[in-house]
Amino acid sequence: MRITVLAGGVGAARFLRGVQAAAPGAQITVIGNTGDDITLFGLRVCPDLDTVMYTLGGGISEEQGWGRADESFSIRDELAAYGAGPSWFTLGDRDFATHILRTQLLAAGKPLSEVTRRLCERWQPGVELLPMSDDKVETHVLLDDAERSLVHFQEWWVRLHAAVPALAITAAGAQGARPAPGVLEAIADADFVLFPPSNPVVSIGTILSVPGIRDAAGAKTVVGVSPIIGGAPVRGMADACLAAIGVRTSAVGVAAHYGPDLLNGWLVDEQDKAATDDPALAGLQVRALPLYMRDLAATAAIAQAAIDLARELT
Ligand code: GDP
Ligand code: CA
Repeated sequence: MRITVLAGGVGAARFLRGVQAAAPGAQITVIGNTGDDITLFGLRVCPDLDTVMYTLGGGISEEQGWGRADESFSIRDELAAYGAGPSWFTLGDRDFATHILRTQLLAAGKPLSEVTRRLCERWQPGVELLPMSDDKVETHVLLDDAERSLVHFQEWWVRLHAAVPALAITAAGAQGARPAPGVLEAIADADFVLFPPSNPVVSIGTILSVPGIRDAAGAKTVVGVSPIIGGAPVRGMADACLAAIGVRTSAVGVAAHYGPDLLNGWLVDEQDKAATDDPALAGLQVRALPLYMRDLAATAAIAQAAIDLARELT
């Protein structure tokens, strides 16, 4: 079985553990969001790719869901002693090593896809992890403040905790970006495509904004898992992103936003089982089941339901 998964960070990484548990023999390709990537202290940081790599490779901080386990923060403290910022984005010493090596390889002219493969040689995540594109795409947020400031996604999300409303969210550079080598092939060759309960705007939405990816996925059976349960994101602030693009924060709102031309099946939580016969989702197969990724067993059951529905619809 070949499964291709479009992935953001924490929500995707947890779901992928479930997919691996539910389908141990499957060949899994993960297409990762790079719109969150940012250059800090001269180093290229790819939060979503690293969250997937560390989670599946056994190096993640389980409490946070991002960053390395058993971290120390000497580098951060030394930089702060120089008055060097930003101080709002936390990078631990172990994590810094990843960004140093990545930056070195990129500076030597290697594309991000090759660099990611090199980093994964250490972590052995058990999936093929591809960035959505080797070209630079950066998610920018237009703030509803007095200056109508345009900031990097991380500044809105991490520094401002998305407390300032966004007027618009754009994937800068996406229009001219090309899918990374292997991305379109992984979608075309897959038995089906899964959307984890990732952020529909700044994770999955950004990946879909790279020309060619949406059409390639639309040609396959696609089953998604709702990141919204009972009208709220389980963790994080995805509601702020949905508000910015005028989509209701609900399991139905997100599925209707993806649309029946892209999505074939949709898993919602039991709290949202009214979605199974909502006229707004006509043309989609909607199933209700517990969607909290509480532990590996619960997450594997969600992944199994997604796989079963995808096979049924293929
Ligand atoms: P990020 O890039 O680290 O923000 O991670 P993702 O985009 O992959 O996933 C974030 C989304 O995961 C959030 O918007 C939540 O709505 C969703 N999420 C987190 N935990 C759960 C869970 O246990 N169940 C479901 N259904 N969604 C979850
Ligand atoms: Ca992210």
